Amino acid sequence: MGDAAVFLDRDDTLVVDSGFIDHPDKVVLVPGAADAVRRLRERGFKIVVASNQSGVARGYFDETRLKEIHDRMRQLLAGHGAAVDAVYYCPYLDGPEATVDAYRRKSNLRKPEPGMMYRAAGDLNLDLSRSWMIGDAPRDVQAGRAAGCRTILIANGEPADSVDNNAADYCVANLLDAVAVVERETTSAKSAHRSEFPSAPAASAGDIGDRLNEIRDLLEHRDRQQRFDDFSVARLLATLLQMLALFAVGWGILALLSDDTSMAVPRLLLGCFLQISVIAALLATRR
Ligand SMILES: [Mg+2]
Repeated sequence: MGDAAVFLDRDDTLVVDSGFIDHPDKVVLVPGAADAVRRLRERGFKIVVASNQSGVARGYFDETRLKEIHDRMRQLLAGHGAAVDAVYYCPYLDGPEATVDAYRRKSNLRKPEPGMMYRAAGDLNLDLSRSWMIGDAPRDVQAGRAAGCRTILIANGEPADSVDNNAADYCVANLLDAVAVVERETTSAKSAHRSEFPSAPAASAGDIGDRLNEIRDLLEHRDRQQRFDDFSVARLLATLLQMLALFAVGWGILALLSDDTSMAVPRLLLGCFLQISVIAALLATRR
């Protein structure tokens, strides 16, 4: 079984959002951020930051600068004894606001898609069903749910009941309150053996469909290399057999048109046999 993680949004969850942060000097931690990370680590969670950074696609800063900004964030947290296991970001954006051609595209890394969580799960051997996503935007919640995590929406000053919580499992006032929820639920899970998928019963039909699609994509991705190898060998064999089948049929037709038609039937039967072999070879590769 993999490790449980807490995925944290960056802007207005860990770091004060002052617009598009384009310089390490602009990084200011949200009050309580270091305390939150430290407490979650003490509970045994891996800490993974997952952040949309369309500023790269918009041309506001490049990935080198973004890594400097994240180094600064890690440094500030480390100064208070809080370590982050990994930082994932999506630099892509689809649409005319993306002025940098190389980054103008749709990406499943960009929240509300769950690509960053899936990538982290593969890299760090995470168990997403025991993991949490904490963020201040509905797309954080959507990404977390799509990845199979429990979700907490931070209202950040808004009354919690006035926020569109987008079916988050919990809606709280700030990051430290979110940590308190995780601590409480982790304790109760140990004593009560909660379901591994506590958010599933609340999911709508659309959510379930989206989740199934994501699972299908993940399985297809894992299986793709193996299928490709098998298919390449079978395709070569089928191509050779198909050529022989066509040759046998043509040979039989020539016999039909000639004076001596006695060889036509055996040759046509050979063609049929080879054609059936082609179909069998192709069916054998299907999964
Ligand atoms: Mg945010």
